[in-house]
Amino acid sequence: MAFLNRADWYDLARATNWSPRYVSEDQLFPPEMSDRFGLSLEQWEAYDEPFKISYREYVDVQSRKDADAYSVRAALARSNFYDNADAGWQSILKLHFGALCLTEYSAVPGESKMARFGKAPGMRNMATFGALDEMRHTQIQLYFAHEFVSKSRQFDLAQKLLSTNSWAAIATRSAMDDTILGRDAATLSIMLTFALEQGFTNLQFLGLAADAARAGDFSFSNLISSVQTDEARHSQIGGATLKVLIANGKKEEAQRAVDISFWRQWRLFFTLTGPAIDYLTPLAHRDKSFKEFIQEFIVAQFERALVDLGLERPWYWDFFLKSIEFYHHSGHLEIWFVRQTVWWNPAAGVSAAERAWLEAKYPGWNAKWGRLWDVIADNVRHGRTDKLYPKTLPMLCNICGLSVGSIPHEGHSNRGYWTEFGMRRYYFCSEPCQWIFNLEPLRYQDHKSVIDRLLCGDIQPPDIEGTLRYFDLMPGERGEDAHDYAWAWPELALDPAAERPSQEAA
Ligand code: MN
Ligand code: MN
Repeated sequence: MAFLNRADWYDLARATNWSPRYVSEDQLFPPEMSDRFGLSLEQWEAYDEPFKISYREYVDVQSRKDADAYSVRAALARSNFYDNADAGWQSILKLHFGALCLTEYSAVPGESKMARFGKAPGMRNMATFGALDEMRHTQIQLYFAHEFVSKSRQFDLAQKLLSTNSWAAIATRSAMDDTILGRDAATLSIMLTFALEQGFTNLQFLGLAADAARAGDFSFSNLISSVQTDEARHSQIGGATLKVLIANGKKEEAQRAVDISFWRQWRLFFTLTGPAIDYLTPLAHRDKSFKEFIQEFIVAQFERALVDLGLERPWYWDFFLKSIEFYHHSGHLEIWFVRQTVWWNPAAGVSAAERAWLEAKYPGWNAKWGRLWDVIADNVRHGRTDKLYPKTLPMLCNICGLSVGSIPHEGHSNRGYWTEFGMRRYYFCSEPCQWIFNLEPLRYQDHKSVIDRLLCGDIQPPDIEGTLRYFDLMPGERGEDAHDYAWAWPELALDPAAERPSQEAA
């Protein structure tokens, strides 16, 4: 039997547009589900996905990817890697699985919406595979996380987190709903695949894979590299959309979609990946700094993708570049401080040797951040435990759900942003988050931040314990200092097992 080459039949086989006779084009492809930019089916005919694959090839490649990842895991299952790993690395696994397993699943309706409502046949084809990809990412990561459930209850959060009212879950759901569920197929192809997947999944899935391999966690390194190979394919959906939109005079609207989503993803990803790479990964296993990964994957690659398409850098690009220097240092310190509210055990990561690394990677780190950690370490050594936990929650942004971060000791660099709308005032962490709200206040007005919920009386009793229960974080799940404060005694910090002087003596 003779077979045609894929290139000889692919275009014809996926040309699945037809002229509807019983319904109008807008009934078949409602603009609010398909294309808010208002392009016709004919204009979408120019859509050309750069990555072409048949179903037969897809299934073959995916089954081999799964076989590879599962067999590496099986081979290493008895290695006791987890038991012997540094507490910081154990926390990375808890953080990663909790934050991502079900977030992967939240991408399935996005891919499915493009598979049904995309007006370009190529988009529908690619997104069908994309939906299968995201199911694979959910299932394989849940499976890997399940191995550790017997080690720590905190791994339960892989299943549980995204359906709780934890601040991290609210921030993640809000961003995903805004970029996936609340958008039409054309817009979400830009927001989800171009801005999130092409820009940011590289950071977590490739950046962390490098550190994982160096740390000897080959099971995890293989797993997330395997996931990223799918992302690299289906993230191409949005670039092809952008070409069609720009060719049809929609550059300004397309640019806005990029700018909104890029900022929302940046707020999430520096919180997720920044502390993992610069603080939780044991020093000996670190590859590049978070800033270096950003410069490689975002500043160089993403910027080039924008320029190649004829788009501009987002209007806040200068501030974005500045924020690379401080957002995640501020975020890490804050997460350590509110560690009861997270499902992993934050490692302070500020022993003498780690500080030297941070200072080398971020000149001025000691003067800005080290001196804050000095105060915390002093409180630890003198047993002032009441000062090691917050008395209240930080102010949270009404768009991203995360707190305001700024650079300490630079005068009052922290400033407030707010908008009066309807009956109330909305607060923002930054100018881009305020800009997003002001574009469409009706879209965002009913969303309540954790602080709003506290002030409205949704959280009872309105204290720390009431808040933790509202977050659905039970004792045993709440974070503690990963190294039991050993880092606060500089002479012991490199040897957490060494006996500690009594707090009186210190
Ligand atoms: Mn995925
Ligand atoms: Mn994806």
